[in-house]
Amino acid sequence: MFENLSDRLGGVFDRLTRQGALTEDDVTAAMREVRTALLEADVSLPVARGFVKSVTQKATGASVTKSVTPGQQVVKIVHDELIKVLQGDGPADSLRIDNPPAPILMVGLQGSGKTTTTAKIAKRLKEREKKRVLLASLDTNRPAAMEQLAILGKQVGVDTLPIVAGESAVQIARRAKQQASLGGYDVYILDTAGRLHIDAVLMDEVQAVRDIASPRETLLVVDGLTGQDAVNVATEFDDKVGITGVVLTRMDGDGRGGAALSMRAVTGKPIRFVGLGEKMDALESFDAERIAGRILG
Ligand code: GDP
Repeated sequence: MFENLSDRLGGVFDRLTRQGALTEDDVTAAMREVRTALLEADVSLPVARGFVKSVTQKATGASVTKSVTPGQQVVKIVHDELIKVLQGDGPADSLRIDNPPAPILMVGLQGSGKTTTTAKIAKRLKEREKKRVLLASLDTNRPAAMEQLAILGKQVGVDTLPIVAGESAVQIARRAKQQASLGGYDVYILDTAGRLHIDAVLMDEVQAVRDIASPRETLLVVDGLTGQDAVNVATEFDDKVGITGVVLTRMDGDGRGGAALSMRAVTGKPIRFVGLGEKMDALESFDAERIAGRILG
């Protein structure tokens, strides 16, 4: 997921640790390379700049350059700073799904992995938290997408709201809410329609559904391979509908991974999960420590 970035940083830090004594100029030169590597990984410019500035300030102090292992100290500072940029003020909380039936709204562009992620989250809630989950597809424009959710629901052993032809997204949301209460479900997840681009119709529909369901969580699913675009999509969805968290999919691919590093700093919203494949188990809670470890190799 971060192969290129990881290789680049590995090269810089190998040199630093092998060098022994470090001058401030050595650190500054290394940090220039780190900045380039971050930008090549599609980390947003202000985030890359802020990161390098903060590391440089901490790494050029006498306690580092005069220490016995200055290179390793710099790596430690980078590691800590990565965690800070990945998780902001603190680790992401778990999903707020008390007070049953708790509604979760899934939003995102078409093809981002929204339906797959909806089923993955349902499986996880069922297996790890012993929750009774109801799924509903609101993608009235794409019957195939509604079918797909029903198939995935069956695969993971979670109920889906029966499909009724001709209903609007708002009508389906109302029915899901009612069914979740009557059926004694702990959680119901609404898989909203996606489009290829953000447009007013999509946002109006998501807002209308949001107003019916009053979701406890609104999770934006974005393709992690799209780098800064993923961050832009998140900013826009947050402005228009308000999101409580992000799921970055396709992090199993050989993408540049910059979205993971920019997301929290640019949008202020936590990454909740990372999608690591097409299989229903390929979903991980977002763990900044683990991601930082992967980046530093
Ligand atoms: P939607 O249009 O947003 O609902 O997208 P889908 O859930 O239908 O996913 C589109 C494609 O991406 C499907 O082939 C999924 O199997 C695939 N996909 C979803 N999440 C991931 C992921 O984390 N990694 C990989 N490699 N593929 C994924």
